[in-house]
Amino acid sequence: MKYSKLTARDLEFIKGVVGSERISTGESVLDLHAKDESTHPKRRPDVVVWPISAEEISQIIKMANGRRIPVTPWGAGTSLEGNPIPVEGGIVFDLQKMNHVLELREEDLQVRVETGIIYKELNRYLSRYGLFFPPDPGAAATIGGMVANNASGVRTIKYGATKDFILNMLVVLPSGEIIRTGTNAIKSSSGYDLCRLFVGSEGTLGLVTEVTLRLIGLPAEFMAAVVQFNDIRDATNTVSQIMRTGLSPAALELLDSQTVQVVNRYKKLSLEERPTLFMEFHGTSVSSLREELKIVKEICAEHRHVHFDSGIGREERNRLWEARYDVHESIKANNPGLFPLYIDTAVPISKYPDMVEWGQRMVAERGLKGYAFGHAGSGNLHMEILGVPDDKDQWQKVEEAGEQVVSFALKCGGTATGEHGVGIGKKKFMKREHGESLHLMKQIKDLLDPNGIMNPGKIFE
Ligand SMILES: Cc1cc2nc3c(=O)[nH]c(=O)nc-3n(C[C@H](O)[C@H](O)[C@H](O)COP(=O)(O)OP(=O)(O)OC[C@H]3O[C@@H](n4cnc5c(N)ncnc54)[C@H](O)[C@@H]3O)c2cc1C
Repeated sequence: MKYSKLTARDLEFIKGVVGSERISTGESVLDLHAKDESTHPKRRPDVVVWPISAEEISQIIKMANGRRIPVTPWGAGTSLEGNPIPVEGGIVFDLQKMNHVLELREEDLQVRVETGIIYKELNRYLSRYGLFFPPDPGAAATIGGMVANNASGVRTIKYGATKDFILNMLVVLPSGEIIRTGTNAIKSSSGYDLCRLFVGSEGTLGLVTEVTLRLIGLPAEFMAAVVQFNDIRDATNTVSQIMRTGLSPAALELLDSQTVQVVNRYKKLSLEERPTLFMEFHGTSVSSLREELKIVKEICAEHRHVHFDSGIGREERNRLWEARYDVHESIKANNPGLFPLYIDTAVPISKYPDMVEWGQRMVAERGLKGYAFGHAGSGNLHMEILGVPDDKDQWQKVEEAGEQVVSFALKCGGTATGEHGVGIGKKKFMKREHGESLHLMKQIKDLLDPNGIMNPGKIFE
């Protein structure tokens, strides 16, 4: 696809729409929008625009489409696969100023928001009404970025991913047309589900300016447990058994012993450095949670756990979970000079023990440094495989290991990306994962965005 360079006249047009305060071509601003949290190469946009309405976005996108200028939506830039990097330059729309709660329908458990709102801020607001939006990607992501990547996280195992919470949305299409998809009904059989089409599309089909989210009532009671094992296989077998037993954990997370070690150092904790499971259960009464705890303990004992710490109540939960947070920062701080290749496979739960073991083996066989952790209850394995991208031989080994891990997941009927999206890094697996249906995805892209202006260079090779 051939794109046009942004000209002084285009900049004047954009200024005419948003004024000169909400547009920048300053070096530091362009640098900030040239990279996400991944190690994919940086690329600056030509201009960053901070819109405040769908109408402003529509006018600028319409111009960009006519002129063949690339457009990339930007949430908080916390992606791990290069998803918001403007690889062809052009216009970046930073949604930071579109961060308002537009309507709370408390009685319907729904909220309508602008997509630039940070999900943690949204949850802080909702907690005043005893409500919350459960998908929790950990990082300070925006709702728009979560919708576009179909983000999920520690609580997905019980409540679902972002896609499960979208009722309707307002989207600016590449043509500049503004459409609303979906309704306020929590179920509907009416026609194609266009909301689901835009969820996970990584800004390649349009820019989502508004969404109405389904909400959940805050749980009355919490129970948490941290369980340690000598062998990682015992830990992962425990996970699949808990899921098969019909228990309903709100979170079930795995950290391998190397990960526990770096978290200990970074956060000055003293957890035993063994494969560890972090569990959380939500319930309406303490007595029901005690019942669940009893069963969980029995299952862990069957799998030879060596340490079991549990507690009931929100404070106990926060104490026990302290070591689960800041994994990414802990790895970074303990490995100066090394950079990660991110793995985000997800497999059916029965394959999870094999998946984890295979991942660790691929790293060890190549003499690399790697960390395995993830949302185990959802079959989601994260790995950070470390190396120096400039050291060609070493980085080739890192990529080989990554390739082997993803290939194994695909062979198990799994996916190359459970929650981070395809971006740049996982494009090469799309054909293998989707076969002939990839062609249909490409046709949908061409139909909505015939000039290929929306976030070019992502999802498709
Ligand atoms: C430490 C760390 C931990 C993480 N843990 C998780 C995790 O547990 N689960 C998880 O899912 N992710 C995780 N992530 C990845 C990341 O936080 C999520 O993918 C998040 O949803 C990205 O949101 P963002 O606002 O930063 O979006 P950005 O990175 O800015 O953008 C993401 C994509 O969305 C597009 N986009 C942004 N806004 C819009 C919009 N309004 N309309 C259309 N397209 C748009 C962009 O073009 C881009 O393709 C983690 C990241 C870090 C750094």
